[in-house]
Amino acid sequence: MQKSKILLIVCDGLGDLPSQELGGKTPLEAAKKPNLDKMARKGRTGIMQVLGKGVIPESDSAHLTLFGYDLKKHYVGRGPFEALGLGINLKHGDIAFRSNFATVDSDLRITDRRAGRIENCSELAKKLNNMHIRGVHFLVKPGTEHRATVVLSGNGLSEKISDGDPHNTGEKALKILPLDKSREARFTAEVLNEFLEKAHKILDNHPLNLERKEKGLPTANYLLLRGAGKMKKAPSIKERFGLRACCIAGAGLYKGVAAFVGMEIIEVSGATGTPQTNINAKISRAIRELENFDYVFVHIKGCDVFGHDGKCIEKKQFIEKIDTALEPLLELKNTLVVITADHSTPCSKKNHSADPVPVLFFGNQIKPDKTNCFGENSCRKGALGIIQGKNLMKLMLKEAKRT
Ligand code: ZN
Ligand code: ZN
Repeated sequence: MQKSKILLIVCDGLGDLPSQELGGKTPLEAAKKPNLDKMARKGRTGIMQVLGKGVIPESDSAHLTLFGYDLKKHYVGRGPFEALGLGINLKHGDIAFRSNFATVDSDLRITDRRAGRIENCSELAKKLNNMHIRGVHFLVKPGTEHRATVVLSGNGLSEKISDGDPHNTGEKALKILPLDKSREARFTAEVLNEFLEKAHKILDNHPLNLERKEKGLPTANYLLLRGAGKMKKAPSIKERFGLRACCIAGAGLYKGVAAFVGMEIIEVSGATGTPQTNINAKISRAIRELENFDYVFVHIKGCDVFGHDGKCIEKKQFIEKIDTALEPLLELKNTLVVITADHSTPCSKKNHSADPVPVLFFGNQIKPDKTNCFGENSCRKGALGIIQGKNLMKLMLKEAKRT
């Protein structure tokens, strides 16, 4: 039997609950989606508990699990994933944080967590980059708007330290504290506090901030750090499963998790990680990359955004846009197509939930089951049954004849 290529499409936050606005249907069930329904008819479906029954997934843990990695062994935290997604080459033992440029008053009380959503902080980040404190190197790389990534490299560092971000406006920026009694945690907290103090002074006197002050704009004069994690190298998807793999995604976090497991990151222009993303461009590139790779992962973010905003009509319309873009998949040869989600983001909850997500396996070697449309309810009756997220990779390898 011939080996198939694998195309995994994760529609972030796709799963939902029935809504009155949609006549008692979920956005996926209410959407006009002839291509997805055709694939469901010709393929097999099921539902998936991504991190296990009753567990509410975060996107990074969910993706790592869907790629076949054990969270207990390999989860390194949001900070390192975001850093990897920015293309930072993290070394084993580096500590990475997510951070915001924020506005604090002379008491270090936060007056704006996003510094008035400052458009660009590259000039500010440049001034803070490459500082050395007690043998520790600080890398500061700007992200979009007020966001930045901070990476510490050096000996004797620990990720067991608290956030500097109190997550609330009006509160004081927090001192970083060690979270265990180790010398490494104490040392890391000390150098970070020293760094934050220095950074605050530099930022307060930076010409860009003086100019903002003059214009009455909030100054970007403080770095709020959160999500510390220590980089631990993991065996790649090639080493573990023999797959040459690549990732097509807009948002940094997904590129980061993919880079962590050794996928090649393919940049597609128009892939933004927002509802305005160019889904057609992503799918046609994915089809092209199936010639170069055994496993192509495509991430589509929009559904999650509308779920968080509680906009079920828009979520339904976005699913229809996805469906249109998926039409060329019906013509694929020797490819196992898997379409699913990393978690549900029900519009009624405006947040992730533990509700299982629908899964669809489609391809010319797949024997069809009796499901005739792709939806939360119909997939419950599919032949794949209830899948655990940690088994998805194994199942895909088996169906693609790659075990
Ligand atoms: Zn997600
Ligand atoms: Zn989300």
